Amino acid sequence: MPRSISGSELDPNACCSTGVSRRNFMRLAAATSALASIPILTESRLAYAQRPHFADPNKGIHIDANENPLGPSESARAAIAAIIPKGGRYEFNMQMDLAETFAKIEGLNPESVIPYAGSSEPLHFTVLAYTSPSKPLVTADPGYEAPMWAATAAGAQVIKVPLADPKGAATHDAKAMIAASNNPGVIYICNPNNPTGTVTPQADIDYIVTNAPKGTIVLIDEAYIHLSDAPSSLHYVKEGKDVVVLRTFSKLYGMAGIRMGFVVGRPELLKKLIPLGGQNSLPITAIAAAKASLLDADLVSSRKKLIGNIRAENLVWLKNQGYAVTPSDSNCFMLDVKRPGKEVLTAMASKDVYIGRIWPAWPTQVRITVGTREEMAVFQKTFKEVMNSSTAGLEPQSLHPRMRETPFSYLS
Ligand code: PLP
Repeated sequence: MPRSISGSELDPNACCSTGVSRRNFMRLAAATSALASIPILTESRLAYAQRPHFADPNKGIHIDANENPLGPSESARAAIAAIIPKGGRYEFNMQMDLAETFAKIEGLNPESVIPYAGSSEPLHFTVLAYTSPSKPLVTADPGYEAPMWAATAAGAQVIKVPLADPKGAATHDAKAMIAASNNPGVIYICNPNNPTGTVTPQADIDYIVTNAPKGTIVLIDEAYIHLSDAPSSLHYVKEGKDVVVLRTFSKLYGMAGIRMGFVVGRPELLKKLIPLGGQNSLPITAIAAAKASLLDADLVSSRKKLIGNIRAENLVWLKNQGYAVTPSDSNCFMLDVKRPGKEVLTAMASKDVYIGRIWPAWPTQVRITVGTREEMAVFQKTFKEVMNSSTAGLEPQSLHPRMRETPFSYLS
């Protein structure tokens, strides 16, 4: 059964100003106050908020935030080094050139591509722009929480629809997502899904795009698409559908700390994101690295193969140890530890192996990010030790003082 969460209500008596319709003013006011009160949440913050203690990033194994331990490619590193002397310039033309390069590769109209410093900003802004107290967000459960936080900021209802076949394929339940609301502002699909790493078949995505009510935005988050064999949903944009697609360089391209991403949609749909922010000049190091990555012919296939092989080895190892895992096609998967996940997460962290996170709907499951082969060997050894010991009653420590600060405090 879909589960619904109510967001805060907007004050219907808020004042209006001339030249702006009351509806638009209310929307702008909602967006502005939302921006002021809710941070743009990304995986790092969500992952850190569930760490049992504030871990030294240079110590231990960090497989809790779906990061790519390989970092930027050699070509991206060289591009960053080469652009440094130009760092005193804004170089807006590079930003446009990057959008055009991507558009050309994907056969898109360049005006339907806007670069941002990562995909979290356009994700947040799309949800703010298209949900409201009368237009809910429909999303999968377990699913990525950032859109839920944005919808709450917009005063929208969040309707969580359990994944279909949770012990099997764990895909978005297309029919239930369409049936969940007759007036959704945004239907969010993460393909492959975070946290399960599972791919939702094109036929199901087609069903959602075809049956979404008029005016509803289908927001398709392809943060992990390069790691999988799933076909992209960019064609819906070319076909003029009410679909917005998100891409990031944070995952396969290993640029989470460098920051670059795209939002792709019909220009008239993207226009609504602009007043919400994020259109500042982008770092030229990130633009240069992103362009070099896009033009690096073997990068996607070689990294996809490497990460896929390490993932497959670990899924087999865990199954041989008697554990259920989701059939991931990404750099993360859910692992059923058959006891409260937070106990295992805490015990692992006490041995400096940081695994992530737990979703309320699946309390005995933890999300594992695929690290390097060496990191996964330490994970396997430590996991075995932890599972052979009692973890009963183990709880994460109370939040570290730094985690009590904004934005972590929103998540506690
Ligand atoms: N979407 C999903 C599903 C993610 O998991 C993440 C990060 O983990 C993002 C978007 C945002 O990443 P970034 O802002 O680094 O592009």
